[in-house]
Amino acid sequence: MQFLADDKLEGRDTGSAGFEIAAAYVTGQFKQAGLRPAGLEGYAQPVEFIASQINESESSLELLRDGKAEPVKLGEDGFLTVNQDTAKETEADAVFVGYGLTVPELKYDDLAGQNLKGKIAVFVSGGPATMPGPLKAHYQSQEERRRAMFTAGAAGVATIQNPKAVEVPWSRTAGARFEPRMELSEAGARRMTGYPFSMVINAEHVEKFFAGSGHTFQEVLEALNADKPLPHFPLAVRIRARVSKENWQVKSENLAGLLPGSDAALGKEYVVVSAHLDHIGIGEPVNGDKIYNGAMDDASGIASLIEVARAMKESGAKPKRSILFLAVTGEEKGLLGSRYFAEHPTVNAKSIVADLNMDMFLPLFPLKYLEVQGLGESTLGDDIRAVCQEAGVQVQADKMPDNNRFIRSDQYSFIRRGVPALAFKFGWVPGSPEEKVFKDWYKERYHGPADDVNQPVDLAGAAQFDAILGKLLLRVADAEQRPKWKEDSFFRRFAQ
Ligand SMILES: [Zn+2]
Repeated sequence: MQFLADDKLEGRDTGSAGFEIAAAYVTGQFKQAGLRPAGLEGYAQPVEFIASQINESESSLELLRDGKAEPVKLGEDGFLTVNQDTAKETEADAVFVGYGLTVPELKYDDLAGQNLKGKIAVFVSGGPATMPGPLKAHYQSQEERRRAMFTAGAAGVATIQNPKAVEVPWSRTAGARFEPRMELSEAGARRMTGYPFSMVINAEHVEKFFAGSGHTFQEVLEALNADKPLPHFPLAVRIRARVSKENWQVKSENLAGLLPGSDAALGKEYVVVSAHLDHIGIGEPVNGDKIYNGAMDDASGIASLIEVARAMKESGAKPKRSILFLAVTGEEKGLLGSRYFAEHPTVNAKSIVADLNMDMFLPLFPLKYLEVQGLGESTLGDDIRAVCQEAGVQVQADKMPDNNRFIRSDQYSFIRRGVPALAFKFGWVPGSPEEKVFKDWYKERYHGPADDVNQPVDLAGAAQFDAILGKLLLRVADAEQRPKWKEDSFFRRFAQ
C-alpha cells in the first residue's frame, strides 16, 4: 500500500505514468510470488479507452422559464457530465420521473406514460424501500438505466442524489466533474451510445428546477422518507446546455497472474481473485493536496492480492483449481477493465467459476464482523460463512443495500457473465463506535486526497482478512463442485 499510494504514483489514474509505475510494481510482485504470466503480453492484457473531458469554462447550462434564461451555476447548483456522444447543444423540456426506474420483473415503471420523447428525465437515485436490493441495484446500473431511458425516448437525464444514500459531501462530488470520463474503445464492448445530455443536480439547490411546477423537491423528499410512491410531473422549465469537451484515446492494461491448479480436470477451471489497480489521479485540491492517492481505494485490495499470492507460495499450497490473480484498470471509470476482461478473458470464459473481489475492504478497526456483498446469492456465501466461523469472525449481509455496493465494483462485470461472486467490507454493529469510524471515513476520505498512507489502519485486522481470503480461495479451489447461484437469486439469470 505504501508503494502504490505514494505521491510519486500520482493517484494511478487509468492511462497515466503513475499507473504504469504501479503496473510494473505489481508485475514484479506477481513474478516474485511465482505466478505465471496469464495476460496477452506477459502478465498484461492491453485495454484501450476513449476519454472525454469537459471544458467547463466554454460550457454553460441554463433554465428557461417564461422565455427568460436563468443560469445554473456549474459546480454549485449542479454539473454537466460528458461522454464521447454528448451533444454540443441541448434544449429540452424536463419531466420529474420519481426514481426513474424500470423493473420489468415487478411491473414497476417510473417512465411509463410520461411522454419523455425528446425530453430530459429528472430523477432521484435509489428506489422504493420495498423493492428487493439486487433488483434495485441492477436496474440502476448505468447500462440498464440507459436502455430504459432510450427506449422511453429521453434526450437526456438529470440525477438528484438520494439524500439517504449520500456518501461524500457535495464539494467532493462536484470536484470530480473535471476527471476524464472513459469508455472502452473496442466496438463490441460499446453496445450503447451515451446520453446526448446528462447532468447531476445538487440536492440542496434543486428547488429552482422545481419552481413553477406546482410541486417542490421537499414534497418529494417527504414521500421518499415516508416510503411512499414518488410523484411524477412535468417541470416548468426547459433545460438549455452548451457543452464543450475533448475526446482522446487512452491505453492501459489489466494484469493477470496464474497459480496453476494441481488437479488434471479441475485445474482447467479458474477461481478469480481481483482488485483494481487504478484510482482517480490528480484532481481538485482539498486542503492544498491534489493527489488522490487511493490508499484504501484500492491499493489495499492490490496489496491483499499480492500478499495472498505470496503466502500461497510460502505455504506451498497446491489448490486443485487454478487461481487467477487479477489486477484491473479502469474501475473508477465504470468497471471498465474488469468488464473488458470478463468479456475477453485470457482463459476459457466458461471455466471461470468465481470472482472474489476486494475493493476497499476498509480495515479501520479490528475484524469482528465481515460484511459480505452477495452473501445470500450463491453457494460462495456458505463458503465464506464456514471460513469466518473457523476464524471467529461474524458474517454480516450488506447493511446499506441502497448504496448498491454489490454492483458497484468489479465483481459485477463477472456477475453479468454468469460468474458467482462476493465482495467484502469490515463490518460493524449499528450504534457502535465502529459505525462512526466507517461513516466518517466515507465523509472525510472516500475519493478524496485524504485517502492516503497517513491514515489509521488496523494492520492486524488487515492481516486477518488476508488469511480469511486465502482460506476462502483454497476452499473454493478445492471444492468438488463449482460455486452455484442460489435458486432464488436474481443474478442467476446471467448464468447460461
Ligand atoms: Zn474502488
